[in-house]
Amino acid sequence: MAHVVTEPCKDCKYTDCVVECPVECFYQDGDMLVIDPDDCIDCGACVPACPVEAIFSESTVPSQWSSYIELNATKATALKASGHQITKHQAPLKGPGCKG
Ligand code: SF4
Ligand code: SF4
Repeated sequence: MAHVVTEPCKDCKYTDCVVECPVECFYQDGDMLVIDPDDCIDCGACVPACPVEAIFSESTVPSQWSSYIELNATKATALKASGHQITKHQAPLKGPGCKG
């Protein structure tokens, strides 16, 4: 079981979540962050830090975003291999698609 970043993160990337994570398991691409389910220890520390409530425990991901469970896993594997880990807060993206 792991935590999962879902749709509301897209185009927002506030990155408040990454500094809360004790095991540094966040990765980023151009429009969102994902969590590596192999490294996540399911502590839940990142959940209240997200201003747009994008992070859920795998067992409580809203049904319309269930595809993000697999998406976090596949993206994290690829982004890990290409060196796209994020461990520090960065300026939010807050692009046009950000609803938060
Ligand atoms: S705090 Fe939320 S919106 Fe910001 S990067 Fe993390 S998951 Fe995405
Ligand atoms: S649940 Fe804990 S270990 Fe998993 S991503 Fe969030 S802060 Fe990191």
